[in-house]
Amino acid sequence: MPKMRAAQIARPNGPFEIVEREIPQPAAGWVRIKVQACGVCHSDSLVKEGHWPGLHYPRVPGHEVVGVVDAVGPGVSQWGPGQRVGVGWHGGHCGHCDACRNGDFFGCHVALQITGISFDGGYSDYMIAPAIALALVPEALPPVEAAPLMCAGITTYNALRKSNARPGDVVAVLGLGGLGHLGTQYAAKMGFKTVAIARGTDKEPLARKLGAHHYIDSQAQDPAAELQKLGGATVILATVTNGDAMSAVQGGLGINGTLVVIGAAESLQISPLVLISGRRSVKGWYSGTAIDSQDTLRFSVLSGVRSMSEVYPLEKVGEAYERMMSGKARFRVVLTTGS
Ligand SMILES: [Zn+2]
Ligand SMILES: [Zn+2]
Repeated sequence: MPKMRAAQIARPNGPFEIVEREIPQPAAGWVRIKVQACGVCHSDSLVKEGHWPGLHYPRVPGHEVVGVVDAVGPGVSQWGPGQRVGVGWHGGHCGHCDACRNGDFFGCHVALQITGISFDGGYSDYMIAPAIALALVPEALPPVEAAPLMCAGITTYNALRKSNARPGDVVAVLGLGGLGHLGTQYAAKMGFKTVAIARGTDKEPLARKLGAHHYIDSQAQDPAAELQKLGGATVILATVTNGDAMSAVQGGLGINGTLVVIGAAESLQISPLVLISGRRSVKGWYSGTAIDSQDTLRFSVLSGVRSMSEVYPLEKVGEAYERMMSGKARFRVVLTTGS
């Protein structure tokens, strides 16, 4: 049997182990992908550190996968060998529960599947995924550029396009890390008056380069007051994981403004008076499904939005993961298989 390399976690808080496994066969409705690149996302720490209830080990993480269809299981007619595809966080749903019937596939309560958690992900030479989880990757996007768009990209792009902001509205992006550097680009390319908020003056040139029309240094200025000077934000996209930083911007929301939370902070303080007096709201956003990923990739090609990434070969997975967790990566970390 032909073999492949896979980077697995054998137990909670265990190290990454590069193991040799048999190349898996796709079952009915599933597709095998020869992986070219896979992004390293902060959510992979759920597998590494054992924070996902009921997760079965050993598990191969990775939900920012880009590669080529290699084989398809019985009953798969929409995909065939040679197609360039990506797989993101949303790995599948049942299609017939009440949530699915409402189109809220992320809320499927019968067969919700998450890539790299419910089944093995992309830290591997090959992986198998449900056909429903695949997005077509445009020719113009090389694997390393496409991979981070499968989670960081779709999450920011989809949150912004499904928000109530319209072209010309003030949209602020809080944080200029892996998510924020993409969110700033998408906001600017979607035609919003884009405000980047980060700590320190040194980030301003980067924010401007990414398309921000305004920059707020949250260490030197009160971001809420600065946003109000611009008329108040229709949307503040909170990409940071610091709850205090999120709480500090709520006063910058305009009338009917929304604080859209995509950073997994532990807690967040919101003033009911701020909400009531301006009919403001706070909402979370889940990344999206395969078609949302496909739209994200197409829009990125159309508009020139790209991730800035640091690239590591699969065998250096431990180093790559530490780099991502350090928060010092500029800005996403991507593994490559050499394929
Ligand atoms: Zn992710
Ligand atoms: Zn369902």
